[in-house]
Amino acid sequence: MEYDVIIVGARCAGATLAIYLARAGLSVLLLDSAKMPRDMTLSTHFIQGAGMKVLDELGIGDELRRIAPPTKYLHSYLNDVHVKSEFNDNCLPYCIRRIHVDTVLQTEAQRSGVLLLTESTVVDVLRESGRVVGVVSKKNNETISHRSRLVVGADGPNSIIARLTNSNAYLTDTLKIPAFWTYIQTPEIWNSNKYEHTDMIVEWSDSGYRSVFQTDGNALWCLRPLKKFIIQVGIWKTQTVF
Ligand SMILES: Cc1cc2nc3c(=O)[nH]c(=O)nc-3n(C[C@H](O)[C@H](O)[C@H](O)COP(=O)(O)OP(=O)(O)OC[C@H]3O[C@@H](n4cnc5c(N)ncnc54)[C@H](O)[C@@H]3O)c2cc1C
Repeated sequence: MEYDVIIVGARCAGATLAIYLARAGLSVLLLDSAKMPRDMTLSTHFIQGAGMKVLDELGIGDELRRIAPPTKYLHSYLNDVHVKSEFNDNCLPYCIRRIHVDTVLQTEAQRSGVLLLTESTVVDVLRESGRVVGVVSKKNNETISHRSRLVVGADGPNSIIARLTNSNAYLTDTLKIPAFWTYIQTPEIWNSNKYEHTDMIVEWSDSGYRSVFQTDGNALWCLRPLKKFIIQVGIWKTQTVF
């Protein structure tokens, strides 16, 4: 069979595009090397309000909103300076683990008629007269060729599709700071009246950068770069460490 479009990479870029294309009446094959559902460790979970609007357009915004509370306030600290920002009520961001976001997107893609093949690693592209006309994937040592009119690489920062088609890199970043993050149960103090309601904290200080976001499962997501090899988690304004 020849598909209209093959998309390599079935997460927020690939699955979203697949839904739009399938709903426009195109036949779409969506391939991913990972066994889904699977978390995405190289990504925090913050979805801006504009991103939620795209998810609304796809009809899955409310399903995702039921998974985690919205982020209403952002507390930014720069040494002694504290700025509290309130997000617009009509455009609230959410911090939802990628395992939920990507799974909801992939399920919606399948519901829209997309064929999703997981644990299928693309290893090459098919070419005819110098033009890409499909991909070669491997699953359990079985090599399969898939043909299409168009191939889309949505396969992340080390895209094999970009490499095989000699695509130019753009928006590159050389900043490399190792960081550690973990989840902890949301403590009472986070939402207590005694302290300001807190959804998200980011702090830059002489001792480095750290952040805490409210995420799903009544958990807080806490990040600390490993520059100084000290892991600290806390509500700094009150100096409460939990
Ligand atoms: C540390 C960090 C924190 C971030 N935090 C945020 C944040 O809070 N909010 C935000 O919006 N963005 C954040 N980002 C950016 C965000 O992670 C990316 O923009 C987003 O993941 C890109 O989505 P994607 O679908 O293009 O690719 P990815 O999410 O990278 O998915 C690519 C998929 O392609 C598959 N794949 C790769 N190679 C192959 C192959 N050969 N064959 C088949 N499949 C393949 C992979 O298995 C993977 O599932 C962060 C990024 C980093 C690194």
